[in-house]
This record gives sequence, structure tokens and C-alpha cells, in this order.
Amino acid sequence: MKILVVGSVAYDSVETPEGKRDAQLGGSASYFSVSASYFTEVGMVGVIGKDFQESDLRMYESHGIDISGLERADGETFRWAGDYLKDINTAVTHETQLNVFAKFSPSLSDAHKAAPYLFLANIDPTLQLKVLGDMSSRPKIVACDTMNLWIDISRSALTELIGKVDILTINEGEARQFTDQHHLPTAAGRLLKSGPSTVVIKRGEYGAALFNESFNFAAPAYPLASVVDPTGAGDSFAGGFMGCIAATGDASEEGLRRAAIVGSTMASFAVEAFGLDRISNLTGAEIEQRYQAFVDLTRFQTLAGNNGLPLLEK
Ligand code: AMP
Repeated sequence: MKILVVGSVAYDSVETPEGKRDAQLGGSASYFSVSASYFTEVGMVGVIGKDFQESDLRMYESHGIDISGLERADGETFRWAGDYLKDINTAVTHETQLNVFAKFSPSLSDAHKAAPYLFLANIDPTLQLKVLGDMSSRPKIVACDTMNLWIDISRSALTELIGKVDILTINEGEARQFTDQHHLPTAAGRLLKSGPSTVVIKRGEYGAALFNESFNFAAPAYPLASVVDPTGAGDSFAGGFMGCIAATGDASEEGLRRAAIVGSTMASFAVEAFGLDRISNLTGAEIEQRYQAFVDLTRFQTLAGNNGLPLLEK
């Protein structure tokens, strides 16, 4: 197994300007795993309840996802409800029911512990820390994500976690909230000082900004005709991003830039339909075509002389 992910597996109730869905399959680990599964082998660690549908387990398996780390506990699956009615880039949480996550303590198999890439998807930072601590050796790359709830109620565990990862993915509101800095490059600078060598700030329809100790990179969002459901865009980005790095073994500057475009490619599919409907039904050809559209979106030809600028001589 190349990538191990721990995160939430959920039934989400979501309302967007395009409609409403009740109890659709979601969760940070679900979106991440399905997205990364197009590039590499993924193993999921998480917990589900007695109410979890067999057909949803089959969907993970049909993507080759190793679900041996998915524990079935007594109780109900994690549930989240929210809307994107005011701002399509920002989820407003109505309800979070931890249910089986309240008592969950992940236990990793030897194969899980040896995974060379680890993604600590959005979940209680104490669980993220436990999984990181249980790895048999330090993975080549450890990345994590989080959300406003954990900044509010679990800041010290989250600070400890951020101090231990190589890559942090976070959305712009959360980056501002965590650092108390409005200006994003300043917020990113603070985050880089607190541990990770790369910080990816997700900006919804404005794309993603990658800040590294030695370079910055901006990945646009794909100009879609409509966004149906932004839930899971961040996790799908992370799945493409980590999936690309794990599949190529390339975490150099060029590798990180490429991975950010692959992440944006996968996020663009996730938001085209409710839940996992689109991202779980992709062909390789569709992914290649969209990736090429991103290459075209960011391509321009520089001119010879004057550093490529048509400046008048003065
Ligand atoms: P995002 O990629 O940020 O849109 O993540 C969306 C997913 O996060 C949804 O499918 C939710 O089930 C999940 N989620 C919402 N709140 C939490 C939470 N407190 N802990 C873990 N996962 C959550």
C-alpha cells in the first residue's frame, strides 16, 4: 500500500444552490481515497456504524481501496449537515454528529504502519496524532488537513500536529483563523514557520496557492459551467495531489507543482455532481483530458528579449 489515509467516513446532508441531498456518502477519507485511487494504492483507516451501506463498501472496493482498516462499530456512522447557500466556497455547518467517531481509537495493521505516504485527513487532531505516532517508521511524506471546528476546540493538539507534518492543506478561511492574519502570504509564512515545508491554501473557485520554503505556485480552478456540490473538493484535491506524488515518487519543486495541478483536476470533477457521484465514476481518458485543459489554461509563451516583456526602451 502506497498511501494510508485516516479521516472521516460520513453520511452528509447537504444543500447548495443546485439542490439538496440527505445522507449521501461523504467524509474526508472517502473523497481522498477515491480521488487518490486513480493514481496509486490507498488504504483507509476509519470507523463506520451499523447503518453503513454494503453498496458503499463495494464502491470503495471497486476502486481497489484497501478497507481492512475500516472498523465497524456499534452505533451510527458519523454525520455532517451543512449548506453553501450564502457562499459557494464556504460550508456553513448545521450539525456534526460524531457518533462512532466519539470513541474511535485507530489500530493499524503492520502493512498500514509501513505505508510510505500518510495523509491525515480532516478529523479530530488527537486521532491524526495517534496514527502518525503508530507508524513503524517516519513515512517519506506526511500531509494533513483540518477544519475550523478543530481550530476552535482542539487548537493545542492541532498545533502539535502541524509541527510534525511535511505538507499542510488548509482552506483560506481556516488559514486566516489559525494564524489570525488576513493577508494570505503572511498567514502562509506563519504556517511554514510552525512546521510544514509546504502549505497548500485552498481557495475554492479561485484555485489553490502553494507556498513552499523556496518557491510559490498558483494552481487555478477549472472554469466549470456550474458547481453542483463543493463538498469534498478539498479532500479530492488532496487525493490527486498526494496520489500524484506517491505514484511518481517526485516531491521536488516540479513534482509539487505538477501535483497541485493534478489535485485541481480531481477537485474540479468532485464539484460537478452531488457527493461522490462524479469523482467515483471517472475514466482515465476523462482525467487526462481535464489535466490537459489545465496545462492549456496555465500555458503562455514568453517573448525573446527584455526578459520576455514588450517594454519600450527609455
Ligand atoms: P471538504 O473537502 O473540506 O469539503 O470536506 C467535506 C467532508 O468533511 C464532508 O464529507 C464531511 O463529512 C466532512 N466533515 C465535516 N465536518 C467534519 C469534522 N468535524 N470532522 C471530520 N470530517 C468532517
